[in-house]
Amino acid sequence: MPRVPKWMANAMESLFSGSYHPVQITAVSYLADHLKKVRFEGDFSKLSKPFIPGNVIEFRVTDTEFRHYTPSFFDMEKGVCEVLFYLHGKGPGSVWAERIRVGDTTKLLGPGGKIRFDGQATRHLCFGDETSLGLLKCLYDEALKRNHQCQCIAELDPTHAEWPGLLELKCINMEKDGFTGDREVIDKIGPDLQDTAFYLTGNAKSIQILRKYLTEKGVAGKQIHTEPYWSEGKPGL
Ligand SMILES: Cc1cc2nc3c(=O)[nH]c(=O)nc-3n(C[C@H](O)[C@H](O)[C@H](O)COP(=O)(O)OP(=O)(O)OC[C@H]3O[C@@H](n4cnc5c(N)ncnc54)[C@H](O)[C@@H]3O)c2cc1C
Repeated sequence: MPRVPKWMANAMESLFSGSYHPVQITAVSYLADHLKKVRFEGDFSKLSKPFIPGNVIEFRVTDTEFRHYTPSFFDMEKGVCEVLFYLHGKGPGSVWAERIRVGDTTKLLGPGGKIRFDGQATRHLCFGDETSLGLLKCLYDEALKRNHQCQCIAELDPTHAEWPGLLELKCINMEKDGFTGDREVIDKIGPDLQDTAFYLTGNAKSIQILRKYLTEKGVAGKQIHTEPYWSEGKPGL
């Protein structure tokens, strides 16, 4: 529900108040000009579902609009959640994320969403772009914790090539070319694709191409977890 009338957004907030978790912004840092890391703290003891790495949360970014984000770190017991915001400046979510400061309060919705760390797999391949760096970081850290293999691939603007390094994320960078000439990057991961969970996020168009490519290589549908984060010309997925 990216956009709803203000009266409905207000009604939802009071009717489902148990799903809106008050949080305070306790730390903010700009890892780069357009990459902002924000720490939210609150009481997460009453979340309806436990957070699983890969899950998303939602914020009401204006009176009428909601936007999804993926925590890079989440600790239910300590009540801490961190998000990496890509400040592309093209919509209300980005403007809201640019404005938030230490001491501000807001409400966090979730966690939920389609993607969750697949504990059955021992190898993980995480794909995304600037908007997915939080997800990549979260899945990567979870895989390391479990002694699993994890390969991240990010299609990034060349001016953002150093961003994964800022997060201590081992990552293969690709240019944003929709895989027209760079498909072999997937092959670098190795021939053993059967035991691998694939998490495809970011630009809807790239996900579509990559999913088709993996399917053609014999990867089973159940191994492929997809969640588009944005689509050209479409506000608020
Ligand atoms: C499940 C989910 C999880 C997400 N997690 C994160 C996250 O952790 N961090 C994060 O920064 N973002 C994340 N996003 C993406 C974020 O919600 C989008 O960037 C969203 O579009 C931002 O909202 P907006 O209001 O700024 O722009 P919108 O109003 O949604 O879009 C305005 C315009 O900007 C374009 N646009 C949106 N994103 C991009 C982009 N990346 N590059 C170029 N053009 C773009 C759209 O196509 C549209 O034309 C997530 C999205 C989803 C669906």
